Amino acid sequence: MKVCEIFLSIQGEGVTMGLPTTFVRLTGCNLRCKWCDTTYAYEEGSEMSIDDIMVKVKGLGCEQVCVTGGEPMCQEDVASLVDHLIGQGYLVTLETNGSVSIESLQCSEHLMISLDVKCPSSGENEKTDFSNLELLSPNDQLKFIIGDRQDYDYAKGILDRHSPATW
Ligand code: SF4
Repeated sequence: MKVCEIFLSIQGEGVTMGLPTTFVRLTGCNLRCKWCDTTYAYEEGSEMSIDDIMVKVKGLGCEQVCVTGGEPMCQEDVASLVDHLIGQGYLVTLETNGSVSIESLQCSEHLMISLDVKCPSSGENEKTDFSNLELLSPNDQLKFIIGDRQDYDYAKGILDRHSPATW
C-alpha cells in the first residue's frame, strides 16, 4: 500500500488525546475539504508492504497506533493492516472521513474508529455515507469540525437524527 509517512507524536484529538501515538498516514484521499491541512497526503508517499509497515511501527515502540490519511479506507489492504496491528497487541485508531464504507473493518475492543462527519464548511458534507454510522460501536467516536454556526446546527441535527447515545 502507499504510505505517506510513519511517525511518532502525541494524539491531538478525541478520547486518546494526549497519548503518545505512532501515526501511519496512508496516501490518497477521495475528498478535497476546503480547509484541508494535509494536502501533501493526496499524492506523496511510497509503496510499503504490511510487513515493512509493521517493522517501522515496532521500531517506534508505541502501544497506540493511529491509521490515518488522506483517507485510509481508500486503500484495499487497510483492514488487513489493522488486523495485523491488533494481532501484534497494538491499540489502533482508524481515522476516516466517513465517505467510504467501513464494512471491511472487523469489530474489536482494540480498535476505535474515529469517524469524521463532514460539515458544510468543508464543502464535502454531501459525500458522507451515513450507513457507516450504523456500523459503529460504543468503542468508536464521531468527529465534527465546526467552522461556523451552520456547521454547529448541522452537527446537532446529525446527532439528533442518529441517536448515538443508544449505540
Ligand atoms: S478528508 Fe482529510 S485528508 Fe481528505 S481532503 Fe478532507 S481534510 Fe484533507
